[in-house]
Amino acid sequence: MGTLLITNGTLIDPKNKKNGKWDLLIENGVVKDILKSGSVGAGLKPAHKNFQVIDAKGLVVAPGFVDLHTHLREPGFEYKETIETGTASAAAGGFTSVCCMANTNPVNDQASITQYILKQAKEKGLVNVFPIGAVTKGLEGKELSLMGELKKAGCVAVSDDGKTVRNAQLMRLAMEYARSFDLPVITHAIDPDLAERGVMSEGSMSTSLGLRGIPNEAEDIIIARDIYLAQLTGARLHVAHVATREGVELVAKAKKKGLSITCEVTPHHFTLTDDAVSGYDTNTKMAPPLRSEEDRRALIEGLRDGTIDAIATDHAPHALIDKEVEYDCACFGIVGLETALALSLKLVESKKLKIEDVISLLTWKAASIVGLRKGDLAVGADADVVIFDPNQAWTVQASAFQSKSKNSPFDGMKVKGRVKTTIVSGKIVYTM
Ligand SMILES: [Zn+2]
Repeated sequence: MGTLLITNGTLIDPKNKKNGKWDLLIENGVVKDILKSGSVGAGLKPAHKNFQVIDAKGLVVAPGFVDLHTHLREPGFEYKETIETGTASAAAGGFTSVCCMANTNPVNDQASITQYILKQAKEKGLVNVFPIGAVTKGLEGKELSLMGELKKAGCVAVSDDGKTVRNAQLMRLAMEYARSFDLPVITHAIDPDLAERGVMSEGSMSTSLGLRGIPNEAEDIIIARDIYLAQLTGARLHVAHVATREGVELVAKAKKKGLSITCEVTPHHFTLTDDAVSGYDTNTKMAPPLRSEEDRRALIEGLRDGTIDAIATDHAPHALIDKEVEYDCACFGIVGLETALALSLKLVESKKLKIEDVISLLTWKAASIVGLRKGDLAVGADADVVIFDPNQAWTVQASAFQSKSKNSPFDGMKVKGRVKTTIVSGKIVYTM
C-alpha cells in the first residue's frame, strides 16, 4: 500500500482537539503523521513510488463518518440495496464505517449470517461494515438470539430495529444477556399497539390529511420502559432515532441519574416536520414519523446540550414499487447516507452547532457507542478520512444517488456542503 499526503486543508479532528492547517500523512493504511501545513519539504520524502498528494485547499479534512444505523438490505432484499451499492452510497456520503441492522432475510440472528455479511463486505464493500445482530430470533420477539455467538462472529450491538421488542420481560432478559457479553442494546422505540396502522405523526396535520396517526407517546412509553429496564439490569442502552421532545427529556433524565444510556437522531428528524407530509409524498413516510416543529427544536437542543450523542442516518432504501403506492401502503424509510453531511451542516449555517460538533456527532462519538476504535485521526489510527467542501452549494438529485434506491424527501432541495473524497484505510474509495 502506498503513501498519501493530504495537504493545504483545514484538518478538523475533534477527538484530538485539532482544528487548523495541518497536513495528513498516510502510510500503509494508517495515519503516519500530522504535520504543520506545508512542512513536507526536502526532509520528508516518502520512498514509495506510488506516493500521492491530494491538495485540499479550501476543504475540510476530517475523520471518516461512522453511521450507527444503516440498512444494507443484503441478504434478502437485494432489489432495494446490496452491500456493494449500500457501501458505495456510504462512501459518497463521507461515511467510512457503517453499522448495518439485522432486519435482512434471513435475519442476522446467527453467526452464519453475520459471517456472510462480513464476507460480502470484504469482497464487494467500499467501506467498513460492522453488523448489528438481532435481539430475538427472526425479529419475532419470542426467543432471544444467541448473542455470544453473534458477538464472536463480529456483531457490535444487538437490535430488533424495524420492530420493537414488545414483551417487557423478554426485553429485560435481553438486556441481562447482552450485558454479559458487553453488547449495547439498541432499541427501536415505537409501541406497536399504540402505533398500529399509523403512517404519520398524530396531530392536526394527520387529521387534515385523513391519515392515521402515531402519537408521540408511542415512542415515549417504550423509551421510558427501556430506560427503566436498563436501570434494572445495568445494560448499555442506545435509543435509535429519537424523534420527540419527551424522548429527549427522558434520555437527559436517565443520563443525569448516571445510567449507561445513549441516543442518536437522524438528519431527517432534525430537518423536517410533519408539514412535509402535506403533499402525500411517500418519501416523507418513515419510522418514527416526522414530528412537530416543537419536537424538531427539542432535537436540535438535545444535540446542542449533549443529550443526543450521535447523528445517525437510518439509511432505509426502498425500491420504487415499495414507495409508488398509496401513502397507507408505502414502506417506511428513506435513503440517508448521501444527504447526511449537507443536512447536518445546515445546523452550522443556522449557528445551532459548530462544525466541530457536527463532525464529533458523525465520528468518534458515534463510534464510541458501539465500542469502535474509529472516528479520529491520531497517529496510528486507521486512515479513514473524508475531505469535503463545507461551502459548496448543490441540489440534491436522488436519481444520481449511488444507492440502488432513490427514495428521498430531499430530492430537489438546495443544500450546502459536498463530499469530495472518501478514504478508507488509506485507499481512495470515492472521489467527486
Ligand atoms: Zn428503527
